[in-house]
Amino acid sequence: MTISLRDTRSAELYARALTYLPGGVNSPVRAMRAIGRDPLFVQRGDGAELFDADSNSYVDWVCSWGPLICGHAHPQIVAAITAAVARGTSFGAPTAGEVDLAEEVSRRVPGVQVLRMTSSGTEAAMSAIRLARAATGRTKILKFAGAYHGHVDGLLADAGSGLATQGIPASPGVPQEVAAATIVVPWNDHDALRAATEKHELAAILAEPLPANMGVVAPAEGFLELLRSRADETGALLVFDEVISGFRVARGGAQELFEITPDLTMMGKVIGGGLPAAAYGGRRDLMERIAPAGDVYQAGTLSGNPLAVAAGLATLALLEGEQPYANLAATTTALAEGLTDAARSAGVQDHVQITARTGLLTVFFSPTPVTDYAGARACDHNAYAAWCRGLLARGIYTPASQYEAWFPSLAHTPEQIERTTAAAAAAFAEIEL
Ligand SMILES: *Cc1c(COP(=O)(O)O)cnc(C)c1O
Repeated sequence: MTISLRDTRSAELYARALTYLPGGVNSPVRAMRAIGRDPLFVQRGDGAELFDADSNSYVDWVCSWGPLICGHAHPQIVAAITAAVARGTSFGAPTAGEVDLAEEVSRRVPGVQVLRMTSSGTEAAMSAIRLARAATGRTKILKFAGAYHGHVDGLLADAGSGLATQGIPASPGVPQEVAAATIVVPWNDHDALRAATEKHELAAILAEPLPANMGVVAPAEGFLELLRSRADETGALLVFDEVISGFRVARGGAQELFEITPDLTMMGKVIGGGLPAAAYGGRRDLMERIAPAGDVYQAGTLSGNPLAVAAGLATLALLEGEQPYANLAATTTALAEGLTDAARSAGVQDHVQITARTGLLTVFFSPTPVTDYAGARACDHNAYAAWCRGLLARGIYTPASQYEAWFPSLAHTPEQIERTTAAAAAAFAEIEL
């Protein structure tokens, strides 16, 4: 017996949305096409609970795809934004908060001495690449298959996440010459990386140090070390995209966790506390190439926006010390163990792989561990979709794509984990494997 979801209001809104928005949404994954259903329209969130337009409530494991590490509408973050908005929403002039946030970030992230704020991770990626090209005088960049760095033209080659979900290998509208400047190598493939860095003069080796856009796929033993040494040996810059992993997997991000310091770092999501903010940063000598300190142009009307900065600062204040990360790790572990038990109780344990790191988790429908994009693609996406629909019907909101990570937060409670794993067991039992 399948349970169905009451979604009349969402369906009405979707019908209207289709008249005015392409696909009815402002970002593709929200359309839920990969799990074979229409989108749910959200009304509000509270902690780790999400309420849709039909007043269904869900345990939210998406948390806006990463920014909401403290959950929805955290009182301290709401207070910070409220105080900021009363002073004015934007000035196009420097404010004290931007200096505070830059100082906080540079205190936490080993590779960041100086940073520039942007409004999205995409902009941060685009700008970091421009800087890497200016600093090295080279054009080509290397990225990994299945890694997503925003929708920058040259980075859509073999991108995971939304693109993988749509089944678009790259996008029409990206000039051939631009795509040709991107070299794509399989993640965790030591030999392919060595060969590519010998063959091509690279401006940058760009990597999510803990990839989370093909699902969560950890770096193999020694792989990040190899990235660092190949960059050093060839004069390429090592650029870490920590838009997801930053301030999440550890206080100083994946670079602190794995003890590999990149030349440039991209940050986003958590840094804006749920408002639009992102940044790129790195060594002082590199970052001082950025205008007006240097000659590499990059700008933004709303960059360092006071509301976003206030939300970011309030979020980082809630991530002070080791305790929040210990709590987040405990929540993630409890969820991973609960889902593992759920799979076992439904007799599907040989068909699923659960990978987890502090604040990140993926349930892969695969008989073998997933170590790269090919492995992620080979998963049983239909089974994931069916399971996901089964979870939604039981009040559990998870990423509507096998390629997206779950985002445990500081707001998730043991009761919500229990509700999730009970629903997971029931939904596992329903699908055919
Ligand atoms: C989300 C994401 C981006 C893009 O950030 P936007 O703010 O959506 O433009 C870049 N890199 C990674 C790893 C991301 O997960």
